[in-house]
Amino acid sequence: MIRFEEVSVTYDGAAEPTVRGIDFEVPEGELVLLAGPSGVGKSTVLGAVSGLVPHFTGGTLSGRVTVAGRDTRTHKPRELADVVGTVGQDPLSHFVTDTVEDELAYGMESLGLAPDVMRRRVEETLDLLGLSELRSRPLATLSGGQQQRVAVARALAARPEIIFGDEPTGNLDSRAGAEVLGFLRRSVDELGQTIVMVTHDPVAASYADRVLYLADGRIVDEMYKPTAEAVLDRMKDFDARGRTS
Ligand code: ADP
Ligand code: MG
Repeated sequence: MIRFEEVSVTYDGAAEPTVRGIDFEVPEGELVLLAGPSGVGKSTVLGAVSGLVPHFTGGTLSGRVTVAGRDTRTHKPRELADVVGTVGQDPLSHFVTDTVEDELAYGMESLGLAPDVMRRRVEETLDLLGLSELRSRPLATLSGGQQQRVAVARALAARPEIIFGDEPTGNLDSRAGAEVLGFLRRSVDELGQTIVMVTHDPVAASYADRVLYLADGRIVDEMYKPTAEAVLDRMKDFDARGRTS
């Protein structure tokens, strides 16, 4: 579904690449976590999947990124919009309508889906994310956790081949964060959704099939079904090494 082949990204004016030699594949129906400390290039890798890097950020990408068979070098972000959905850290700033239901429909309208398909998807998705009772609520009156559930629902409703999250639990307390992670996991188990998520929260690891650990712009470790403790240990390990070298 996603394939990185020896990908390096150098931002304009930077002395060296921000990420280099990134090589991995994500098959359909897998939830992959990109973990690692702040500033190692996690968002850069994610941006390369959506095409934001380098089309919007500038800089140079070498190697090849393919998303659902499309080379991001020749496909701009808008040409990937039907296969990639995004959940960010700050849902309120990305909402474009006023209510839960409208927001779910919005993503599909922009893809030009038929009205009856849209209506069915809205119902299914409200149901899957436990949002049915909130359907008419103004988005601004929801809690942070509820808003993030709407953001996940909006992405899911359009049934993109891939969803990616950049710190989707970054602004939530641990209970609301666990709830959102639980719903993302459910979409993988029940809909076969493919998800790539960036986080520096080790707790998220226990929801993932695989964790790719980044340090210094490279993937330095790959863990299958790791526990949160295992990822936390790894973080401490690399932090300690970073400080002593
Ligand atoms: P992470 O998500 O792991 O915190 P990022 O990919 O956001 O890391 O950033 C990695 C490095 O690349 C940082 O040093 C950051 O300043 C730099 N960087 C990120 N985005 C840009 C950009 N658009 N232009 C220039 N430098 C950038
Ligand atoms: Mg980031």
